[in-house]
Formats: sequence, structure tokens, C-alpha cells
Amino acid sequence: MKDMKTVSFSKNATNIFFHILTNCNLCCRHCYINKEQHGENTLPIEIIKAWLDAFAGKSREANVIFLGGETTLHPDLSLAVKHAKKTGYKSVTIDTNGYLFNRILSKIEPGDVEYISFSLDGATRETNDMLRGKGSYERCLSGIKEAVSKGFNTSLIYTVSSANIDELDMMESLLCDFKVSRFFIQVIGIRGRTIKGGFPGKDSENPQVSRLKWLDVIPATAEKIARRGITVTYPKVFLSPEEQFECAGLVADNYFIFPNGRVYRCPLCEDYPIHGMKFDENRLVKTGKINEIDLFGLSIPEGCVMNRLIQPGNLSYKKDGTPEYKIACCLLKEEISGI
Ligand code: SF4
Ligand code: SF4
Repeated sequence: MKDMKTVSFSKNATNIFFHILTNCNLCCRHCYINKEQHGENTLPIEIIKAWLDAFAGKSREANVIFLGGETTLHPDLSLAVKHAKKTGYKSVTIDTNGYLFNRILSKIEPGDVEYISFSLDGATRETNDMLRGKGSYERCLSGIKEAVSKGFNTSLIYTVSSANIDELDMMESLLCDFKVSRFFIQVIGIRGRTIKGGFPGKDSENPQVSRLKWLDVIPATAEKIARRGITVTYPKVFLSPEEQFECAGLVADNYFIFPNGRVYRCPLCEDYPIHGMKFDENRLVKTGKINEIDLFGLSIPEGCVMNRLIQPGNLSYKKDGTPEYKIACCLLKEEISGI
């Protein structure tokens, strides 16, 4: 299919995933925010600006995604967005669960942000609200409607798990009806709250879907949705033996920042105090050994070493003990442009 491509890691861009607070009004069953590791503080705007400045000139292209907790609970989010634009960030995105607190849409202009990115984890109220909380389905859809009516570009993130994969197909009409321009399919990780168990999967106790089901459902559904003019991105997850494995921690310039000053290079490491960098008095400094960066160079036949350590349930082995396939870096994506 000519419009499909694997999005390799960008080597000339700096991408920052900036958690400006960890508090949230929801309590999703699969929330990856780990307050024991990431603290509970809300960053003052002056610190947000200083940390944005630390990355602004790092490469020819810097992109920032503001995240929470619930990002719009931050009272100065609009100032953070405008500061990022002023200091030359090429793209600015706001992630939200849809509640759009603090009248954020009346404090920024559509030209200030690339996308407002909403999260919905079911095509039906029943499934989404079981995962994300009562009322969250309606609020997310009304938030999208309001953003679109004000001229903002919107995207939608759907975290696939055994509880909602059967509804992915139904997202096609919903995305079209609500005029969403980009659709991001994510895979649930064994992280944050999910690691503690109790996730209401449908077909097994494992919240992650099997490789066969993933390969059966995801690429075909993504293509079907893209044919409606929506650009669809989903993680590659599984590599065939002939495909080359690369760790983004070694070849890309991504930073996952938390309000307690921790800066990770790999999102799978976020449940552990092994961040490779930190902010110290608003200066970005390296942390001491041993940290995540020491893991990136380890070469194992299973591919991603962090996947092997924290979610080995998605691996399988042949009788001779060799892995049947490799797990790709969680940051490697397939993208199908809206056709
Ligand atoms: S909306 Fe996001 S931050 Fe809030 S509970 Fe859900 S997953 Fe966690
Ligand atoms: S997910 Fe795996 S491959 Fe990707 S940065 Fe982390 S350790 Fe490296």
C-alpha cells in the first residue's frame, strides 16, 4: 500500500513529552502515571518556561507535547503554550481527557497548537466509561466538538487492550462524525495502575492482546479508517526476524519530563528511578550510573530489553529457546496517511 510507512526515529528533531502536573480528575484503570515515582506537584509557570528553554535550541526542530495528569487542570497552560511558540517550538500539542478545564479553548488560538489530542478508550459509552470513569465518554466527545467548532485540529488516542479491541472497528464512523483529523492507536503497557492488576480484560487476565489478534485487527482497521481521510498511527510492536531492531534511546532525541525534575529517554523506564537525566536548578544534567542509558546498548535476541524485563508476557519462544519474533521499540510507529 503506497501511503503506508514505518516512521523511523527522527534524528534531526527533539521531541519533548512534558508532564507539567500529575494530578487528574479521572482515575483510569490503565493510567500509567505513577505518583510514587513522579510526585504530585504542579510545576509553576516560571519553571515550565525555564525547562522549555533548555530544549528550545537543541536541534533544528523541537516539538513539545504537554501532558498530565490532566493537562488542562494547569491554570497557566495557555502561557506555557504561548511561550513554546514564542521560543521556536515547531509544533505544540496539548493532550487532554476532554474535560478542558480553565476555559483553555478561549485562552489559546488554533494557530498556537498543532493539535488538541483527546483520549477515548472505547467506541461505546459502556466500554469507555468502564475503563476511564463515568461520564468521560460524553465529556470527551463534547470537548472534541467544541474544539473543532473553534477551528482547532483534533486528534484522538485509543489505547488498545483486551477490554476494547473489539470496538476499534466502530471508531471509524465516530472519528468521521466528529471531524477528527488524526487517530493514534496505542498499546496498553504493563505500567502504572495496570501493573497492580485488576484490569478487566475480556479474553484473558492479560490486558495486552495476543500477537495474532494484534496483527489480525490493527493494520486492517487502521487502513480502513485511513481510507476515510484520517491519518492513522499505530505502534509497530512486533518485528519479523529480518527486520532491524533499533532502540530510540540510542538514535533519537526524545525526553519524557516529570514535574519532580526526572527526565527519561525511554517511556518504559518510567516506573523505576533509573532516569538518565534530571533538572537541577533548571539545568539539565546527567544522572549517575546505573541508569536507563546503560540498558539501551544491551543487545538481546528478543529486541527491546525493557520489554523483556517488564512485560515478557508478549514474547514467545521456539522449542530451541530462540524467540519467535522480536519486540520493536515502543516508539517505532506505522503511519497511514489519510487517503
Ligand atoms: S486521564 Fe490520563 S492521567 Fe488521568 S487518570 Fe486517565 S490515563 Fe491517567
Ligand atoms: S522501549 Fe526499548 S527499544 Fe525503545 S527506548 Fe526503551 S529500551 Fe530502547
